[in-house]
Amino acid sequence: MSESEPVITIDGPAAVGKTVVGKLLAERMGCLFVDTGVMYRAVTAAAIEENMDIADEDAVTRLAKSIGISIVGDAVAGIQRVMVDDKDVTDKIRSQSVDRNVSVVASYASVRDAMVAQQREMASEGGMVMVGRDIGTVVLPDAKLKIYLTASLQARAKRRQAELEDRHSGGAFEATMEDMERRDRIDSEREHSPMKPALDAIPVDTSHLTAEQVVERIVELWRTVI
Ligand code: C5P
Repeated sequence: MSESEPVITIDGPAAVGKTVVGKLLAERMGCLFVDTGVMYRAVTAAAIEENMDIADEDAVTRLAKSIGISIVGDAVAGIQRVMVDDKDVTDKIRSQSVDRNVSVVASYASVRDAMVAQQREMASEGGMVMVGRDIGTVVLPDAKLKIYLTASLQARAKRRQAELEDRHSGGAFEATMEDMERRDRIDSEREHSPMKPALDAIPVDTSHLTAEQVVERIVELWRTVI
């Protein structure tokens, strides 16, 4: 990776806008985009497919080490697919059962080690916007610009609900909010690589901003660090 190529990390809780902002930002900067959440979701979908007990850390870890997760296609152009070995799991990883179980899978240290190794390899390919929960703290601690997105729980739950309704799978608003709160709690309280801002991350509150406005703010911040 050359010195001049942007490496920008974006972390933050569920439905805060990381993916929408990350994709637009990558397009603007002319670099790659990786949403690391899909990798933890892919392991979870594979475990569900195998009827595994998600609480069985050894079995889930063995599975995570034995499968090959690949992200193919161009996210910025909107034609990205997530594969587990040769199976396309792009739609499956957005199911409610994956939503409910992914945080437990992501709390397992060896699952994380396997994912982080792959993420670092991806980042060595060039300029990159990488989004997740531990990108600034653990995966790419030397990134020049680290962003931590925040938004009120209400604003995030509204966005998630709209997303679910787009996919015709929306349930009660309160249930969406509760699921999200539960996932954030597990993600921020876990022992290994908990979700938190890196010490040098810049917080951006997205509650009252459009995705384009958030991108504009990050581009301005990028100009101050190069
Ligand atoms: O970002 P997304 O909501 O798709 O992430 C799904 C889950 O994957 C998160 O709730 C979290 O448990 C896990 N995750 C993680 N570390 C990352 C990205 C996602 O633990 N870098």
